[in-house]
Amino acid sequence: MTVLVVGAGPAGLATAVTLARHGVPTLVVERRPEPSPLPRATGISTRTMELIRSWGLEERVRAAGVDVRGQAWIGPSLVSPDGIALDTVWPHPDVVARLSPTAPACVPQDALEAVLLDHLTGFAHVEVRFGTELVAVRQADGTVEATLRDGGTGAVTVFRPDHLVAADGARSPVRDALGIETDDVGGDDGPRGMLGSPWLGARATLFRAPLPGGSLWDVLGDRRYFIYTVTNPEASGVLLPAGDGRWLFGQDWDLQAPTPTDEDLAGQIATAVGLPDLRPTVLRTGTFSFDARMARRYRDGAVFLVGDAAHRMTPRGGTGLNTAVHDGHDLGWKLAWVTLGWASPELLDSYETEREPIGRRNTTLSARSFGSYRDPAEELDFDLGGRVAHAWVDHAAGGQDGGGQEGGDQHGGTASPQRVAVAGRISTLDLLGPGLTVLTGPDAPAADRQAADRETLGHALGGTLTAQVPIRAWRLDGRAAEALGIPAGGSLTLRPDGKPVVRSAPGLVAAGPAR
Ligand SMILES: Cc1cc2nc3c(=O)[nH]c(=O)nc-3n(C[C@H](O)[C@H](O)[C@H](O)COP(=O)(O)OP(=O)(O)OC[C@H]3O[C@@H](n4cnc5c(N)ncnc54)[C@H](O)[C@@H]3O)c2cc1C
Repeated sequence: MTVLVVGAGPAGLATAVTLARHGVPTLVVERRPEPSPLPRATGISTRTMELIRSWGLEERVRAAGVDVRGQAWIGPSLVSPDGIALDTVWPHPDVVARLSPTAPACVPQDALEAVLLDHLTGFAHVEVRFGTELVAVRQADGTVEATLRDGGTGAVTVFRPDHLVAADGARSPVRDALGIETDDVGGDDGPRGMLGSPWLGARATLFRAPLPGGSLWDVLGDRRYFIYTVTNPEASGVLLPAGDGRWLFGQDWDLQAPTPTDEDLAGQIATAVGLPDLRPTVLRTGTFSFDARMARRYRDGAVFLVGDAAHRMTPRGGTGLNTAVHDGHDLGWKLAWVTLGWASPELLDSYETEREPIGRRNTTLSARSFGSYRDPAEELDFDLGGRVAHAWVDHAAGGQDGGGQEGGDQHGGTASPQRVAVAGRISTLDLLGPGLTVLTGPDAPAADRQAADRETLGHALGGTLTAQVPIRAWRLDGRAAEALGIPAGGSLTLRPDGKPVVRSAPGLVAAGPAR
């Protein structure tokens, strides 16, 4: 009944949160002695914010972010008004408001990770061990054996989880130990480097630059963007707000070049900002590569790869963290269903089938020279990933039908049969439960009798469902039912991620697209 998650980055934390909320005993090991202080990703997509909202963490995550427009500013320096704003991958706020109960956010990765880690401390059945490294993994006769070393004491323990999740990043030691190779995805004819350089290297420098009596935001005024591209050839690069008064300066970088001094970097930052007298404090600097590679497999027996371990993207397009979180959620609920006895192990086969094409698409686009500039509407559609439509619900009545007494949403869900009614600012997405969710229109005589039989549902999901899987049924008001395309007398059965499993109309049951 245990899952071992290796790595406490976004992929590992999203997997652990999903397992935790289903009540699955989980151990997370992270080799760093403490959380990473580096912001790295700052663009949190609409779908990622929807998952965060479903975990009850939206306000905390948004509060840790920076209030900016989701466009890029391109100009000769940060403070120069002689530039233009360009759409990148972020959708227009009006479009998002129609399609989602939330919106993308600019939140530094370290702040997001801190909120997720804090959330995990609320679950007695989850343990997160920092300073603990997985040093060996092997599988024999269907059993996983993981060797863990305590970085402080050097003590070594052997752990035998039911499943192991390799969320151990782009260099994934677990992937290597299992002999899973990776392939470059190619790109286009253009250079892959950050700003069109022939190098695959980049340097990211974290800094603070307070101004007397204020900050850079006071100089920027209304020009608040989530990324600024500086074209001045003396200090070309990108500047990104990283929260808490910090900024990131990213440059194309020859990985063979010597490491610059903090003084050199401070001078380049002052030039890129466009304030020659600026005296920035360099907090950290490091290099990374614009590699774009896919693992040949996402799974080996009871071991699953998630996040960068499965697909290493360049930062272009800002999909690395988001794809990692979505992988973790997808694998998390499927592992939970199998572990809790709600579904047969075949359900786990759909993890790679569904997630690999998404990882490949995002990795390939990130390798293209202009991969940062995409059609925002198309990108939003892809990000939402085929989940049920969002509509605000005026009124819904329902509850949960048996099953899943020991599992269920451990935070705020209904783990026992009950009847409730909701009204107000509730989205159709807020009605999703940890098991199956059945939505009907107002005319349905008994919403909870509308679910198709478990055999049909299991077939549509690619596994066998047991009587334990909880089914939460809701009768919607007419407006919401119409927005979701539920015909009179029909129903829509959804997975925990909101993807349709089965649509039924009177006299017809059809398996829905599982993407
Ligand atoms: C400069 C930069 C900017 C970026 N900007 C964006 C952006 O705007 N949007 C976006 O979506 N993505 C962005 N990314 C990508 C994003 O940061 C990564 O895709 C994301 O961190 C992947 O998460 P992960 O959990 O898969 O891996 P990681 O975050 O790398 O986490 C893996 C963890 O596993 C741990 N680990 C490794 N081996 C072991 C072991 N043997 N035992 C125990 N623990 C182990 C590591 O210490 C690490 O903490 C950016 C990346 C960079 C470098």
